Formats: sequence, structure tokens, C-alpha cells
Amino acid sequence: MTTLAELTTLRVGGPIRSLVEARTERDLIDAVREADAAGTPLLMLGGGSNLLVGDEGFDGVVVRDARADISLQNDGACGGLSITATAGTPWDRLVEQAVAEDWMGFEALSGIPGSTGATPVQNVGAYGQEVADTVALVRVWDRLEERVRSLPLVALQFGYRDSLLKRSMRGLAPDGDAWRPTPRYIVLDVTFHTRMASLSAPIKYAQLAAALDVAEGARVPLTEVREAVLALRRSKGMVLDPADRDTWSAGSFFTNPLLTADAAAGLPEDAPRFAAAGGMVKTSAAWLIERAGFARGFAVAADAPASLSTKHTLALTNRGQASAADIVALARAIQAGVAARFGVDLVPEPVTVGVDL
Ligand SMILES: Cc1cc2nc3c(=O)[nH]c(=O)nc-3n(C[C@H](O)[C@H](O)[C@H](O)COP(=O)(O)OP(=O)(O)OC[C@H]3O[C@@H](n4cnc5c(N)ncnc54)[C@H](O)[C@@H]3O)c2cc1C
Repeated sequence: MTTLAELTTLRVGGPIRSLVEARTERDLIDAVREADAAGTPLLMLGGGSNLLVGDEGFDGVVVRDARADISLQNDGACGGLSITATAGTPWDRLVEQAVAEDWMGFEALSGIPGSTGATPVQNVGAYGQEVADTVALVRVWDRLEERVRSLPLVALQFGYRDSLLKRSMRGLAPDGDAWRPTPRYIVLDVTFHTRMASLSAPIKYAQLAAALDVAEGARVPLTEVREAVLALRRSKGMVLDPADRDTWSAGSFFTNPLLTADAAAGLPEDAPRFAAAGGMVKTSAAWLIERAGFARGFAVAADAPASLSTKHTLALTNRGQASAADIVALARAIQAGVAARFGVDLVPEPVTVGVDL
């Protein structure tokens, strides 16, 4: 019996009822329609790199998009370039091709695991770039209206690790159940707009600028940015490597908290503060965790099979034999410690299935 431990990067999660590998768009839509019509819980799965699934597993159908096609709509001769990738395309394959073919705007997103179809769900971002910078259109299967729709950038309502697609998980299907753990909108393919350039978009992230030895705002050959990002990510255990347990994770486990100005004023003087939309202030989850006393490698007990990464305090990792319950115990200990010290509730970034956090 297949388990979600075999299908997710945290490598925890119990059995599933069935797995469908869709090889055409028609197969994908049919699998979703059939599950919805029968009232069977549905988990649309990409690389399983942003999921925490409970030990009970998932008593429903898991659907994976086996397509991995990248096509160009025009060649950039007039300055603009449109690229469409099917949802199942591994994200880093697209980034690698973008860097090789001078498509600007993907380079800082090198090394992020998972599928292209999942990137607009949480508006994937790293090192000063996010997919909202380049996404032009997402074609989806709308499970409520039972039709294919094209959602342009303006409809996607991207925010920090957020989008219409992600928020749609909280909505209710006609039978009264939540769409969760899958969005109401199943991504079929994603179209990006960008420009041809051998130089990167201006570097916006201080640590990346330092690694490249340039000033923030500088533009650097795409290949150099990709190499620098991959090196930085590897040093933090943020590039998947089966031999490195620090990468048996879901990446950053908590989002950086968005606080009201009043709440942010209550943090210690030296807490990081960044202006965010709507007058909110973003602080650093890693800083809060460390200052609440949780160091790299922290575990709830000396022999616990789950711990913080030994390279980065924001990643919860499976050291080999962890269950979902072990990951949950670790997450709760960190949430409780940060809440007690700073009064801030840390919000998990991964989508949880059968787990309460
Ligand atoms: C080592 C590591 C590093 C990471 N670094 C980053 C980072 O730098 N920045 C960042 O933003 N994230 C990061 N992540 C998180 C993760 O890689 C991204 O969120 C990624 O986009 C998830 O893709 P996936 O295909 O694995 O999604 P999954 O984990 O399979 O699914 C996540 C959610 O998306 C939904 N979904 C998947 N495919 C579709 C589809 N076709 N249509 C609709 N919904 C869909 C699922 O139903 C689920 O709700 C990291 C993870 C790991 C393990």
C-alpha cells in the first residue's frame, strides 16, 4: 500500500486509498471530476514538498500530473516572451532552462523543489523573487463551476506566500465539505511573461548580493545568480538531497509573521522589521525561534527522531524514523516557546492533512 511518507519530502504520512497518475489534461480533469462527484476526498499532489500529512494517512484519491511540457508562445524578438509549463513540470527544470535560454526573472528561484503547478498556490518566493513577478495567467479546472478557466494575474490576488488558489482551500464545496487539502482551482498549466536577457533582474536580497560580491540592485549573469543561489541554499539544507537529513523537510516550516504596527512595536528593539502591504510589519520567524531559545538541531528529547535542521532553524526535519506525530510535537514546542516569549503565533507554511497545528 502506498503511503504519503513515500510521496512527500518530510517523509511522513500514512497510507492513501488510491493514486492516479494523469498523463493528459483530460485524464487529470476526469480524475478530479470523478472524485468530486463521488464525494471522495482529493489530494492534488506535486512533489509533496509543502505537505505535512498525519500518520493516519489520507482516505481519498491522490492525483499527480505526470505531464512535464514547456512551450514558448513567442521568441522574445519584440522584447517579450511567454512560456507555458504544464502543472506537473518540475519547477527547477523550468528554472534551469530559463537560465540556459536567457529568460529573465526565474534565476533567484533556483533549487526550489516541487512542481510548477504548485508555485502559484503559495506564490513561491526566495532571495528577492517570487512567481508573482512573472506569472501572467494560470489555466485551472474550477471544481465548483466544473469548467476550465483562465485566471489572469489580477485575479490571482498574490500576496506573501498567498494567493486566491491557496485561500480557495478554505472555501466549501457544494456538499458542505472544505475543498482542503486541495484548492478549488486545479492548476492545469502556468504561463509566465518575461524578457530575454542574459543579465538577472536587479538583485534585491542582501545575502545574495553579498555572495555575488555586488551591490543590491546590480544585474549579474543569470548563470552566476543560479550558482550563487544553489550554493546558499545547499549551505542551509534547502536543496533536496536524499543523503542529507537536513533536507528531509518541507523547507521553511513557518511563514514570517505579519504583525500590526502595534504588535511589532512590542518586539525587542533589534528584531527584524520590514514594511509590508497594508501598513503591516513583517518580522523574521527564524529570528523569533532562535531568540526564544531554539538552536539549530533542537529536538524535544535527546533521542527524538525529529529536530530542527542542523543548518537552519526554520526547517523541521525528519532524522530518519520520524512519524508525523514527532514533527507535530516539535512544531508545537516551537510555537509554544515563541508565543510565550514574544506573544507571536507562528503559522505553519505547509498544507496540513489530518494534522492540527
Ligand atoms: C528543501 C525545501 C526547500 C524549499 N524552499 C522553498 C522556497 O525557497 N520558497 C518557497 O516558497 N517554498 C519552498 N519550499 C516549499 C515547496 O517546495 C513549495 O511550496 C513548492 O511550490 C511545493 O510544490 P509541490 O509540487 O511539492 O506541492 P505539494 O507539496 O505537492 O502540494 C502543496 C499544495 O499545493 C497543491 N497543489 C499541488 N499541485 C497543484 C495543482 N496542480 N493545482 C492545484 N493545487 C496544487 C496541493 O494540493 C497542496 O495543497 C521548499 C520545500 C523544501 C522541501
